Amino acid sequence: MPGRQIEAVERYGKFMLLRLSAAQGKTRAATNGDAAPASLLVHLGMTGQIAPSPAGQPLEKHTHVCMLLDDGRELRYTDARRFGRMAYLTKTLLAEELTGFGADPLEVSKEEFTQRICGRRARIKALLLDQSVLRGVGNIYADESLWKAKIHPARLGARLNRKEAETLRRVLQDILRKAIVLRGSSISDFLDAEGEPGEYQRHHRAYGREGQNCYRCKTRIRRAIVAGRSSYFCPKCQPSPRWFTMLPLPRRGKNGKEKDNAETGRMLRPGRSKRRSAEKKRKI
Ligand SMILES: [Zn+2]
Repeated sequence: MPGRQIEAVERYGKFMLLRLSAAQGKTRAATNGDAAPASLLVHLGMTGQIAPSPAGQPLEKHTHVCMLLDDGRELRYTDARRFGRMAYLTKTLLAEELTGFGADPLEVSKEEFTQRICGRRARIKALLLDQSVLRGVGNIYADESLWKAKIHPARLGARLNRKEAETLRRVLQDILRKAIVLRGSSISDFLDAEGEPGEYQRHHRAYGREGQNCYRCKTRIRRAIVAGRSSYFCPKCQPSPRWFTMLPLPRRGKNGKEKDNAETGRMLRPGRSKRRSAEKKRKI
């Protein structure tokens, strides 16, 4: 990459896209591939961090990539769990890599959102997480937006009516915009490029709140596995489809802490249908 400038840093779904200029100056011959503009596509995985550091500063543990910048600093990538990914891509390779991604949730129109969601017989939670439907929505923001829109995570996309789909799009956009302003949610050790943790976790209404009261109706937030992921929801505000099973609430010890309980998170108990009769009759 010598001789290239980072011209822009963009968000692309869950990836960071660093646009690199054409190679310039004497280093032109030493470039990887041709000298045309290229890109770095970076995914931080669970624990990745990318930030500039003074070149003289000792490397932190789990530093995997160092890129020397022209101001003497180094752009360093650290990743303890190594789920992250970084690819250097020429224009054609980048275009190939980006096909298959769904719509940007902040830019998607009402019509396209409705068509992508309501035309599918998969569960709404799975659709929100599917990067080929929408790019960039993860587990936290899927649960938060479904809670806000009062839609149960296990409902099928095709069973949502137009109004519900429109509400979901609106609240998803509100939540993502607010989370971006607050630099995301730091659940374990996420830090942004300035080395600051996110603050959106203080605004979570469903995610990670199992057993705590719903902010709307005071019913206890429950958890279930939907689309292979822990999903948090209010069983009252977000009526479930028939035959839906949720996980039993964790038993609590005298000090209010969760007991180490082997059945927590594993045993499924048949749930009762909470669906109202009007919903049963509705066919979409
Ligand atoms: Zn509620």
